[in-house]
Amino acid sequence: MTSPRKTYIIANWKMNFTPGEASLYLNRLSNRISPSRNVQVVLAPSTVALQPLSLQINRRQFKLAAQNFYWRDYGAYTGETSVAQIRGFVDYAIVGHSERRYVFNESEEDIAQKVAAAIRNNLTPILCIGETALERKDGETKAAIYSQLTNGLHEVSKEDISKVIIAYEPVWAISSNKNAKPAKPSDIAEAELIIREHIAKLYNKQTAEDIYILYGGSVNADTAGGYLDIPGIDGLLIGGASLIADSFCAIVETAKGKNK
Ligand code: PEP
Repeated sequence: MTSPRKTYIIANWKMNFTPGEASLYLNRLSNRISPSRNVQVVLAPSTVALQPLSLQINRRQFKLAAQNFYWRDYGAYTGETSVAQIRGFVDYAIVGHSERRYVFNESEEDIAQKVAAAIRNNLTPILCIGETALERKDGETKAAIYSQLTNGLHEVSKEDISKVIIAYEPVWAISSNKNAKPAKPSDIAEAELIIREHIAKLYNKQTAEDIYILYGGSVNADTAGGYLDIPGIDGLLIGGASLIADSFCAIVETAKGKNK
């Protein structure tokens, strides 16, 4: 019997919570979210909280993800933390988030190297892609998605592509943007097809069918269910709503209800 496809619910806590606050918050979530075989809950705290949280979590209940890291493993890179240094604490690594691309000017090459570094260190990269409002207005959504996939995955071999998760996060829908507006399910369904079509071109049809694609952008407890109903969407990446225990727990419950 083949195991059912998992649903991923990933919490991006961004630059919130001290390690002590993160620990208390994890405790609250632990009391309310029971382990599930079908729903994988992944928490992405700040780098400084990864080590203490890795000692605190029940790995059957939660996994941890890095929000950021430098792609070289060791060396004279003052102020940086490598994936080799944190790989004992985490199972996943978020790469290419729009705040890294547009606030910190991460290049496509940086992103490709980070994806490769995560795989080299046995972590699952969650590659975030998505068009800006301007690209969408100019009819360049497909081109933006193609380009971010081609560039971000250019170091990933046919053997390793099954280790990658894609998160479609249109920049205009992410709540940290001034004029953020939630994406319509039809926008997401269209992007999901574009992503699978391009993965088929870069790799093959089977890989395109198998790859996990998540959605992220202003998801909350009221909208999560509708987004999870979109065919081909395997889970959600959640920023703002993941910082509120009631909202986040409700989203996890919704995912469990849909993937029994
Ligand atoms: C994000 O930053 O990845 C994100 C999806 O944030 P929000 O849910 O707050 O839009």
